[in-house]
Amino acid sequence: TERTLVLVKPDGVERGLTGQILARIEAKGYKIVELKLVQATRDILEKHYEEHQGKPFFEPLVEFMGSGPVVAAVVEGNRVIEGFRSLAGSTEPTTAPPGTIRGDLGRDWGEKVQKNLVHGSDSPESADREIGIWFA
Ligand code: ATP
Repeated sequence: TERTLVLVKPDGVERGLTGQILARIEAKGYKIVELKLVQATRDILEKHYEEHQGKPFFEPLVEFMGSGPVVAAVVEGNRVIEGFRSLAGSTEPTTAPPGTIRGDLGRDWGEKVQKNLVHGSDSPESADREIGIWFA
């Protein structure tokens, strides 16, 4: 079995979509094994997004992710890393397919950062690293 780190980003928490998002994860049959509401520090966010350091959206991204609480979860199941990314849909909510979290619940708000409701780890190595950051 596999584990992934899921974040409901500040836009998802602010819009009151946490329950719906967690319900989709549970309805798919994955298990939530850790769950907390956190106000992320700059230190956590810089570590979490270290691969994006230097990109033009890095600063706006870190600022957005620290703009309000996020819900962090560790989710477990066979092939859950790939499975959650499939549930989430592609990065850009405008074109994420309907049926996905981003496609059904997200849109473009005309801002510098793509507010796309959720994050999910993209590999087993990222999952281990990110779970270590958020659930130290
Ligand atoms: P996530 O890692 O959040 O699950 P992802 O793998 O689809 O999504 P990444 O490429 O890792 O996205 O980018 C991290 C986050 O940075 C995105 O989820 C989005 O919020 C923001 N982002 C990515 N690319 C851009 C961009 N070109 N312009 C604005 N914001 C962006």
